[in-house]
Amino acid sequence: MSLLTVGTVAFDDIETPFGRAERVVGGAATYISLAASYFTPEVQVVSVIGDDFPTETLDDLRRRGINLEGIQVKHGEKSFFWAGRYHNNLNDRDTLDTQLNVLADFDPVLPEVYTKADFVMLGNLTPDVQHRVLDQLQHKPRLVALDTMNFWMNVALDSLMEVLKRIDILTINDEEARQLTGQHSLVNAAEAIFTMGPRFLVIKKGEHGALLFSPDNVFFAPALPLAEVFDPTGAGDTFAGGFMGYLASTGDLSFDNMKRAVIFGSAMASFCVERFSIERLTNLSRPEIDQRVQRFADLVHFTR
Ligand code: AMP
Repeated sequence: MSLLTVGTVAFDDIETPFGRAERVVGGAATYISLAASYFTPEVQVVSVIGDDFPTETLDDLRRRGINLEGIQVKHGEKSFFWAGRYHNNLNDRDTLDTQLNVLADFDPVLPEVYTKADFVMLGNLTPDVQHRVLDQLQHKPRLVALDTMNFWMNVALDSLMEVLKRIDILTINDEEARQLTGQHSLVNAAEAIFTMGPRFLVIKKGEHGALLFSPDNVFFAPALPLAEVFDPTGAGDTFAGGFMGYLASTGDLSFDNMKRAVIFGSAMASFCVERFSIERLTNLSRPEIDQRVQRFADLVHFTR
């Protein structure tokens, strides 16, 4: 089934305790679409870039079968740019710079084939753009997920609250869940988020895994203990891409299948953090992914 994704396609400057990378390819939609492309063949991207964005990267995405018809190229303008610095624990980071550039006045236009999408992943970007994408859909998708971050809570909270009413699943990190709800306990935060619109919630906790909540159930997925975590940038988006890609490939929206999707998403995120930028996500194989999922199963298996 088709998966429509919206988000930034961007340049990042990244500083980790292990090194620096300048003007590397990033962006929520880049990570989401690459991760999802390992599960479902019809991945469609809506985004905007300047003419500074490398054509080689667009070719890499196309080679993975990703449909880029919905990416607008603004001539003479610059792509979205973000700079971040990670703390020693790699779970916390400071945003050093966010330059919206082409994103500032982005008006998404969905190609006809995108308007019939079965699954929709609204990646992290302006809530107004997330609204305008939903407005153009011709029928209600089977599942709409949304990811956002503190930046948009700070600058566009009203629009974000409106778009939350239109979605099924929110994916967010633990600190952002606390900021959005004013609740410290994640269980209470989940309850508060269910009153805002979503029926499901994924709370990402970096190296401490992820929690999947529905009003009646909760599931915990660990993150894989890795010897080498190089760059956590994009892990949340890669998780979301793997999660939604897996759901789109199976079409099964039971809670049990969502648990599997959380593990597939976590497995994809574990690859992402092993290298800077999208390097690790461009040439994986399905057997490699399945082996990693097996490591998750082994990690939490016990008898009593
Ligand atoms: P993640 O590490 O999964 O939260 O995603 C990191 C990616 O999000 C980076 O590649 C950035 O280009 C992108 N990003 C950072 N800030 C924003 C923002 N305010 N809106 C949209 N995308 C962003």
